[in-house]
Amino acid sequence: MAEREHEHVRVAVIGSGFGGLGAAVRLRRAGITDFVVLERRGAVGGTWHDNSYPGCACDVPSHLYSFSFAPNPDWPRNFSGQAHIQAYLEHVADTFGLRPHIRFHHEVEQAEWDADELRWVVRTSRGTLTADVVVSATGPLSDPKIPDIPGLDGFQGKVFHSAQWDHDYDLRGKRVAMIGTGASAIQIVPAVQPTVGRLTLFQRTPAWVMPRMDRKITGAERWLHAKVPATRYLRRQLLWGIRELQVSAFTKHPGELGLVQRLALAHMKRAIKDPVLREQLTPDYRIGCKRILLSNSYYPALAQDNVDLVASGLREFRGPNTLVASDGTETEADAVVFGTGFHVTDMPIAHRIKGADGRTLAEEWNGSMESLRGASAAGFPNFLTIIGPNTGLGNSSMILMIEAQLNYMVDYLRQLDTLGGRVALDARRSAVHAWSHRIQERMQRTVWTTGGCDSWYLDANGRNTTVWPGTTTEFRRATREVRLEEYTVLRAAPATAGAPDETAPTRKPTRKPAAQPGATSGAGSGATAGGEPAAKPAAPSASAKGAAA
Ligand code: NAP
Repeated sequence: MAEREHEHVRVAVIGSGFGGLGAAVRLRRAGITDFVVLERRGAVGGTWHDNSYPGCACDVPSHLYSFSFAPNPDWPRNFSGQAHIQAYLEHVADTFGLRPHIRFHHEVEQAEWDADELRWVVRTSRGTLTADVVVSATGPLSDPKIPDIPGLDGFQGKVFHSAQWDHDYDLRGKRVAMIGTGASAIQIVPAVQPTVGRLTLFQRTPAWVMPRMDRKITGAERWLHAKVPATRYLRRQLLWGIRELQVSAFTKHPGELGLVQRLALAHMKRAIKDPVLREQLTPDYRIGCKRILLSNSYYPALAQDNVDLVASGLREFRGPNTLVASDGTETEADAVVFGTGFHVTDMPIAHRIKGADGRTLAEEWNGSMESLRGASAAGFPNFLTIIGPNTGLGNSSMILMIEAQLNYMVDYLRQLDTLGGRVALDARRSAVHAWSHRIQERMQRTVWTTGGCDSWYLDANGRNTTVWPGTTTEFRRATREVRLEEYTVLRAAPATAGAPDETAPTRKPTRKPAAQPGATSGAGSGATAGGEPAAKPAAPSASAKGAAA
């Protein structure tokens, strides 16, 4: 069914995961109803819809991993499973009346800035619409990454990614090869180990795994949370506060993580008696450098007779069913599951967003994402990212960061209203660079830089453009309001030639790639003295790789 062409909306939100649904709620609460949520799937949920692999659950407690404005007294466990999280998001969509706004099966193929009309032309798989503002909430965990391993095409068995689980394929009794030892893999391994014939885990880098303090939330607790909302609130605050206190160990004093590392080693020793296996499973980098994983069942599963660990990574596929490890070990398999993560630092949506100078966001970023306050990239007016660059967390709930970015979104729209007329805000390149530079400076002391690992937090240029090097409180403060001096105000050219608006900056954006917004007048005045830096701040000199191995 074709969409009617060129429908115009105030805001087009891309994605209906936590970010997109949260944006929709906040838009409605701000009195904005003229918006759509474009969702490529047939259901809400985003990554929580896609990831339905056996054992899929969240490793952040549910009372914190949920919207502050949509508390759920009925979470069944500390760490709820995928089905409960998906049900929660469906409930949010229903309760807040979001469904009429959601366009399912609308994949955004391209969004292009129309510099004359000051609006976005959004082409979807079901037609085109225009929007004053685009809010991209596609998230970093939306596009699965399968490594390009030689011979994969010739493999005759079943192959799938953890985020594209084929529930029609029965793994029972099969020889299964699991690739990767990240957060997804360590949940899949214990879930499938009891039923598969043989499980071979290909580990390129061992993970640090801590005990998972999971338990059922009792009926009494749930009753209390429903009847006395303050108890629910206190629970959430406690979970949040503990994590805020942990932040400085990650960002300023990685040495303090030594005790945690000893606990993780003891956790492994309790389950793994074989010293060779223990050696293979022991990381050679500081805990926290990669995301700390939580599991009580991963190590016990690895100790079972039907499980082999190949500790040298996967080199190639050979023939119809053989996997060859980097050390030459050969493994026969009926099925291969890739738990190899997502396109995080090379967000695919960035290739589909075309800014003021005709370049894509991916071209603008050139391998290293950077956006002012995690939201605005220079040359992409009226375009905001939820879970943008450097808004990830090493130890707490992403929902806190999402909500902070939603505050920013609402204030952004308010500022546009206040400015009046057909108007757009384009982040100043100098402000974007300054923001990014401060982050990269702070990154130098963090465990993600000094910990001696090569993690998915780092991009192709070796920069950590993923994680926020501070507390959620700091980020919330930084995104409380839009500072107009960090933006250039763009106004549509007046209809009659030769009559510029004297009260506000009139500026038709240039199409030259290198053009920088100068020190424009009005709202944008006073932001920068002198010229704007043309290049991104240099990548950190102290590379994370091998620094403290
Ligand atoms: P991931 O953390 O990126 O882990 C990918 C794994 O695949 C790593 O072990 C990696 O090894 C390995 N790998 C990647 N390319 C490889 C290659 N060419 N050959 C061999 N091994 C390769 O991916 P994920 O486990 O899917 O997790 C992705 C994100 O989802 C993370 O943010 C994670 O925290 C999140 N997640 C969260 C939960 C939760 O409970 N909240 C659950 C699941 C996932 P190296 O370590 O050597 O790179």
